[in-house]
Amino acid sequence: MQPRGVLHHPLAARRVTVVGTRQVGGGLLRVTLRGPELDGFSALGPTDHIKLFLPDPATGVLHAPWITDDGGLQRPDHGVSISRDYTPLNHVPATANGEASIDIDCVLHKNPGPATRWAAQAAPGQEVVVVGPRGSVLAPTATPHVVLIADETALPAVSRWLELLDPETRITAILQGEDESVEDYLTPNQHARAAIEWLYREDGPGQVYEAVRSLTLDDSTYVWAAGEATELIPVRRHLRRELGFELDQMSVQGYWKRGVVNLDHHAPIDESDPE
Ligand SMILES: Cc1cc2nc3c(=O)[nH]c(=O)nc-3n(C[C@H](O)[C@H](O)[C@H](O)COP(=O)(O)OP(=O)(O)OC[C@H]3O[C@@H](n4cnc5c(N)ncnc54)[C@H](O)[C@@H]3O)c2cc1C
Repeated sequence: MQPRGVLHHPLAARRVTVVGTRQVGGGLLRVTLRGPELDGFSALGPTDHIKLFLPDPATGVLHAPWITDDGGLQRPDHGVSISRDYTPLNHVPATANGEASIDIDCVLHKNPGPATRWAAQAAPGQEVVVVGPRGSVLAPTATPHVVLIADETALPAVSRWLELLDPETRITAILQGEDESVEDYLTPNQHARAAIEWLYREDGPGQVYEAVRSLTLDDSTYVWAAGEATELIPVRRHLRRELGFELDQMSVQGYWKRGVVNLDHHAPIDESDPE
């Protein structure tokens, strides 16, 4: 399988302003961010992500990071600097009539940390800082079959996959949410683009693994999975150990982990088989 193309972007820390919020289905809240510093923003891959830097919840002060002369990211050495990862959507470049904007769709989960609490109260005029994406890993081309496995946190990325994959690529998706309302996140066109199996957490644990095991996957299939890290370990082991998937044929990413604050998604999800 051809490796996915990679584009690198100069790292930037962009101060942006909230211009609106709205519910987008499945318990996700869309926050629209706009500002002149979004000029030059680029997110061309389905799994591109930004780090959203938020005000200190105790003081409301935004301790913004900056980019150093050698292109690295520097957090201030005073004050609380909080950041979490999100998937940028709907990038609208600046025009003569308006500034550039992006959306982020935030899961308002039941164990909210600072990012979820911030999103729930976000209101026009508030400022945050968007860092990245550092690069774009492009959708695989000339791939007959792509399987997407995701929970709510990865639905924004799923919407990007559905938009960016070649029209000839057959897409199978295993998508998990709390209950049936999660299905409302995707538009009718997005529903029609893939063969989707919806799973509801209220029906019990282990469903994602069982759903993946029931798929027919061969060496022409690319698999992308993202969601709760522990739940994806058996999925990854199935792909690697039982089906013999190579690393360039799959990407399995923990987007969050039960009981862990601000999961580092670069850390291997399966310590017995670090990449
Ligand atoms: C590359 C990448 C892209 C992502 N894109 C998105 C996106 O577009 N939209 C989005 O909503 N999220 C996205 N996430 C996930 C998001 O970054 C995490 O859910 C993050 O932990 C939320 O921050 P928090 O401050 O609410 O919680 P934290 O302070 O990080 O954690 C507090 C507690 O909440 C729990 N927790 C975290 N997330 C969830 C959840 N979804 N459900 C239940 N419990 C949870 C943690 O286990 C912890 O116990 C992405 C993550 C990555 C790595």
